[in-house]
Amino acid sequence: MQALDSAQLYFSRAASALELSDRVTAMLAGAYREVRVQLPIEMDDGHLATFSGYRVQHNNARGPMKGGLRYHAEVDLDEVRALASLMTWKTAVVDIPYGGAKGGIAVDPHRLSSRELERLTRKFVARLHEVVGPDTDIPAPDMGTDWRSMAWFMNEYNKFEGFNPACVTGKPVELFGIPGREEATGRGVGTLALKTLGRLGRQVTGTRVAIQGFGNVGLHTARFLQLAECRVVAVSDLSGAYYNPQGLDIAAMVQYVNQGDGLLRGYTECEVIGGDELLALDVELLIPAAVGGVITMDNVDSIRAPVIVEAANGPIWPHADDRLTEAGVTVLPDILANAGGVTVSYFEWVQNRQHYKWGLTRVRQELDRALSGAFESVWQLATDRKISLRMAAYMLGIDRVREAVEMGGIR
Ligand code: NAD
Repeated sequence: MQALDSAQLYFSRAASALELSDRVTAMLAGAYREVRVQLPIEMDDGHLATFSGYRVQHNNARGPMKGGLRYHAEVDLDEVRALASLMTWKTAVVDIPYGGAKGGIAVDPHRLSSRELERLTRKFVARLHEVVGPDTDIPAPDMGTDWRSMAWFMNEYNKFEGFNPACVTGKPVELFGIPGREEATGRGVGTLALKTLGRLGRQVTGTRVAIQGFGNVGLHTARFLQLAECRVVAVSDLSGAYYNPQGLDIAAMVQYVNQGDGLLRGYTECEVIGGDELLALDVELLIPAAVGGVITMDNVDSIRAPVIVEAANGPIWPHADDRLTEAGVTVLPDILANAGGVTVSYFEWVQNRQHYKWGLTRVRQELDRALSGAFESVWQLATDRKISLRMAAYMLGIDRVREAVEMGGIR
């Protein structure tokens, strides 16, 4: 199973439950535009290296297309297609006026110097600037990219198209960014995890949590949940998994990764276990916050957590998801769980267009309001129709896009 098969299966299940016409199904299934670009750059040692970049613009019925930019060795067109469609449903679930898109470059960012990454990002913009922009398609950070890449993106875009900071989100606060964007996805994951525990009648204080991935999303989720008095007993990254049944010192771990190379390698204040062992730990809450396809038919039966919150995009393959549902595990799906990032990106875009600076308190309040509304709608639909939260979220998102497509007509 690949990311695209998985996204298509979830879409077709929801489309058939919604009894979408063939006409609308055909319009929603495919992408509006797909671009592949070749990116030759001069490396620091003077040799020329060539990378492949992608941007898939899935649907713009509800507004300009929006989605992250991923730098990862395994990025390919199919993965970007899958992630672009997830963005269309995600922006609709949280009801912000955007469509969906996604981009990526097949590169391991850890193998490039900062100067090389800057040249690569600028080349990507040079190739794509005509088909992206504040009213068309607005990129944001995703795996392997951060505020630096977004600052380079904006600077390069402005050279071609003139000053327009709303062309990209996730920028540094000092450079037209918005306070709270960096924490937004993790904060949203944490907020929604607490709501899910509450709705299931579970105690929050002392809840044992395991988080796969300690990058932007995993780290902020861990911080938020620890402040909410959960016990974060395990986190992992590419270097392994770090475990303490009494609870980890998240603040110390954040400091460790910030001072080093971004990984927890060498952190000794807890037990080090295998990366895969983390998924099977005896915890109440499991949060995959790294890559897609980590819970499959091969390991699903080892999962012991009764609640899973999908911070990563597509971490559970559909057949494994079915097995979890049969076993009574509650799964909060990615298109709702990690929507905090795109929601605050929307606030940043609004701020840029209004030339008005938002404060952190307002950002957090508006984020909580948007996510709470989406959570209530999804929970209600799942309860009324006796369906999984994933099916409910897909149905809600797809139906909102259907409405816009039908009202706008075929353009
Ligand atoms: P990131 O690059 O900041 O961090 C990724 C983390 O995962 C790193 O700690 C890395 O070491 C770890 N990792 C990678 N492969 C791993 C593996 N096989 N096992 C364990 N750990 C592994 O990326 P991020 O921005 O935190 O994104 C993580 C996930 O969240 C992705 O699926 C992304 O699409 C999704 N997401 C991110 C945002 C955002 O705002 N950044 C928004 C929505 C969804």
